[in-house]
Amino acid sequence: MSIDYAAFRRELEAFARQACPPEIRAVVAAGQKITKREYQAWQQILNDRGWGAPSWPVEVGGTGWDIRQRLIFEEVMAENDCPPLYHHGLGHIGPVIIRFGTPEQKARFLPRILDGSDWWCQGYSEPGSGSDLASLQTSARRDGEHWVVNGQKIWTSHAHEASMIYMLVRTSKEAKKQEGISLLLVPMDTPGITVRPIRTIDGWHHLNEVFFDEVRVRADNLIGEEGKGWTCAKFLLERERLPPANVARLALMHRQVSALLQKAAQAAGARRDFGVLQHKLLLCEAELQGARVMMAQATDDLIHQRPLGVQPSAIKMTCADVAQRLTTIALDAVGPEAAHRFLAEEGGEELPAATWIQNYMFTRARTIAGGTSEVQRNVIANALLGA
Ligand SMILES: Cc1cc2nc3c(=O)[nH]c(=O)nc-3n(C[C@H](O)[C@H](O)[C@H](O)COP(=O)(O)OP(=O)(O)OC[C@H]3O[C@@H](n4cnc5c(N)ncnc54)[C@H](O)[C@@H]3O)c2cc1C
Repeated sequence: MSIDYAAFRRELEAFARQACPPEIRAVVAAGQKITKREYQAWQQILNDRGWGAPSWPVEVGGTGWDIRQRLIFEEVMAENDCPPLYHHGLGHIGPVIIRFGTPEQKARFLPRILDGSDWWCQGYSEPGSGSDLASLQTSARRDGEHWVVNGQKIWTSHAHEASMIYMLVRTSKEAKKQEGISLLLVPMDTPGITVRPIRTIDGWHHLNEVFFDEVRVRADNLIGEEGKGWTCAKFLLERERLPPANVARLALMHRQVSALLQKAAQAAGARRDFGVLQHKLLLCEAELQGARVMMAQATDDLIHQRPLGVQPSAIKMTCADVAQRLTTIALDAVGPEAAHRFLAEEGGEELPAATWIQNYMFTRARTIAGGTSEVQRNVIANALLGA
């Protein structure tokens, strides 16, 4: 049966406008941080409608939608100021459990991701092991029916709010560093785990250091084969950069460009002298259009089950770069008032200008998080130049 994509889009649009609470849409529209409570509320609404996991197969509670439907979903939700799906559970560890988990693990972990009751974080990076992830040192040794974990993770987003962490641990020391790594699922309330906050330059607390001191984890919380966690890790990282994850980002940035252009035109009034600003914004828009073309190509590859080329790396890099330039342009336009209000309003009611400066500061991290731009350039150079 062929799918009527236009009717599908209309159904989603009607749902988004009617079902997403206005107070949550206002937060998204203003470009402000979405809280755990807001993410969870939206996840429950989607799950009640049967759309809790757009990318999962039907047999584990997903929609079974094809790739085009998933992209339309992301696009429509972003256009209507609905929060993006919380990626650590639905987009990262969920698909890994579906692919590598046992039936018992699927039954234990997946429903709690779907209804939003578990909030996951990612324990990959360590001090000294970021881009070179396979050099990680956090260890797990077997003791009867448990793994005993010792070591440290860093830059762990949302660890202080998470109920579960999926983490890479070294279960044996092999000659090749990619061997002997395993993927463990660990409840964050297990004795021996200490979470220490890292406050970022924008004043936000979402990053953490996480310490593991003789942490005992059920043996059957290991996903896939012991010592073969690198395969799961790579599967997860590849998914992190798939097109659906970037649709919402692109849509949001496109709207930010349009809003800034409109504001600049209003401020200039009859004088219409906002040429420099307009030029900078249109250059951003041109790059976003380029990213959209790459996204369309990648989507076509996915639909026809062709291997993805360098588009995911190129899209990730472009999004990060444009996000930084866009917030820089906005800050230039707002002027010193942004800093003044940011300082004055810290902890108090936020004003739009303060949101721009926070976003300006936060977007500095975008060329680092999820794989640095330098590493993406290496990927592209290796693929295109055969370096
Ligand atoms: C906002 C944010 C959220 C994050 N959330 C998480 C999370 O939830 N969980 C998690 O596990 N991690 C998380 N990270 C960590 C992130 O994955 C790492 O910061 C990233 O992989 C880079 O690693 P690093 O910080 O150790 O830097 P390094 O790898 O030490 O890199 C330092 C510098 O050297 C450059 N470099 C490194 N290798 C090469 C190379 N081969 N060629 C050229 N240049 C190179 C890098 O580009 C960078 O400029 C987060 C980071 C940020 C900023």
